[in-house]
Amino acid sequence: MNVTKNRVVSIDYTLTDEHNNIVDSTSGSESFDYLHGFENIIPGLERALEGKKQGDHFSVTIPAADAYGERDEKLIVDVPLDRFQGDGPVKEGMQFHAQTAEGVRVVTVTRVADQTVTIDGNHLLAGLELTFDVTVNAIREATAEELEHGHGHDHSCGGCDSGSAGSEGCGGCCGNC
Ligand SMILES: [Zn+2]
Repeated sequence: MNVTKNRVVSIDYTLTDEHNNIVDSTSGSESFDYLHGFENIIPGLERALEGKKQGDHFSVTIPAADAYGERDEKLIVDVPLDRFQGDGPVKEGMQFHAQTAEGVRVVTVTRVADQTVTIDGNHLLAGLELTFDVTVNAIREATAEELEHGHGHDHSCGGCDSGSAGSEGCGGCCGNC
């Protein structure tokens, strides 16, 4: 079986930036499972995985445009401090969801001054060329439920009808239910 649309793929990976710093890795934790062909992972990595087989090991370097996108200076804005209410003091490095012209984005507080807070809506890995060292652990056909949701349900998640979650779905483990 090879990697193609509608299959759930389990990979191990180490992600490094242009300076060979390790940004992220599944080493020491569980493998990463995703549903292939549904844009659940960055485009450059999904393309590189297409057609791979169980046990394949490869390395791919992906330009920013096919990873988390180029940095967009327009996404860095100053907002009045008094817009932040109720959740305690605002600190640099805090992240939260904000409604923007392009939908809900994760924004990061990059500076706190007397009256203004600078927030950055760029992904932390935006603008970076990324290298993935990948091993394909397993490939299986997706379930009907996974295809309906557009994402994989990993082993810790019983799916949206699992008893742990009652009528509320799987408790968020799959993101959509
Ligand atoms: Zn789901």
